[in-house]
Amino acid sequence: MDILISEELATAAVDRLTEKFVVVRDGSLWKDPAHLGRALGDARTIMIRNQTQLTADLLAAAPKLIGIGRLGVGLDNIDVQAASRLGIVVIAPLDANATSVAELTIGLLLALVRKIPRADRSTKAGDWDRKGCMGVELADKTLAICGFGRIGRLVAARARAFGLRLVIFDPFMKADSPALLESGATLTKTLQEALIEADFVTTHSPLTAETHQMFNAQSFGAMKAGAFFINTSRGGVVDEAALLDALGRGHLGGAALDVRQIEPPTLRVGFENLDNVILTPHLGAATIEAQTRTFETVATDLDRLLSGKPAVNYVNFASPRR
Ligand code: NAD
Repeated sequence: MDILISEELATAAVDRLTEKFVVVRDGSLWKDPAHLGRALGDARTIMIRNQTQLTADLLAAAPKLIGIGRLGVGLDNIDVQAASRLGIVVIAPLDANATSVAELTIGLLLALVRKIPRADRSTKAGDWDRKGCMGVELADKTLAICGFGRIGRLVAARARAFGLRLVIFDPFMKADSPALLESGATLTKTLQEALIEADFVTTHSPLTAETHQMFNAQSFGAMKAGAFFINTSRGGVVDEAALLDALGRGHLGGAALDVRQIEPPTLRVGFENLDNVILTPHLGAATIEAQTRTFETVATDLDRLLSGKPAVNYVNFASPRR
């Protein structure tokens, strides 16, 4: 088997691979690790989105695997260290989604501060609620950006056009980095310092042991009264109970969540009842352009690996080491 596809994926790029390679597709495989493990035993490469969890144990049971194609950016569902130890190339189209996520982030920010979803709902219901939909301007306010990588930088560039002042928290960013200097932003040493300054906070860090629930009761407590919070990164960076509490007490002005601790959420925890909360179903990369770039990039690299050529969009090494 050349390519195992363990999630529901259907695009022209996958069809092209099917014409050239032996492709096994089972869209429900990600739900059943035992079955997935057996299928992996025979696979040379695997193509996944964000549902398949490729743990060290599963990878150890895949002796022929030379490449993992991840159709997306977050790598928290792959044990990349284990893959690297085993000599497996991990392919991810790191540049494919950033513009789409940055644009969604700005869209959510505008929708929050101008109460666009509430205005839409009430007007369609027959109201003309101009008073209840009073908003605030972005110009001359402060936006805190947590994580100044590909997406954070694109958000910064767009936010600048709205006249926002920028503060950035990113422990890996150097004060003399050209990207930072170009953004005109202030770099803070701690998350807390960024939060206390901000009228709006957006997070763009990866989900790691350090960032897990970094937005918790303490961080929300540090934010200004009435500030807005946006998460288009990973649900795991937020303690949802603490966010609900901060919203319920009226400490925060509102929140927009594109990503959740559990996706899709199995429980209606309370965000659904709040008028100042916007929920979207992980739409950051859900644009025609981002999806086309993502599939094309991963399909091309899997084709290259299977044809004995080095991958181009890898996160560890270009050619298999096994
Ligand atoms: P990136 O690697 O380019 O940037 C991440 C930045 O976060 C880096 O600058 C890094 O230094 C910083 N960082 C690391 N640890 C940090 C910490 N403890 N505190 C603050 N910053 C920290 O990644 P990117 O392409 O900008 O993507 C960011 C994240 O967005 C991804 O990891 C992914 O989880 C998420 N994402 C979501 C969607 C979506 O559909 N909503 C789509 C793409 C990516």
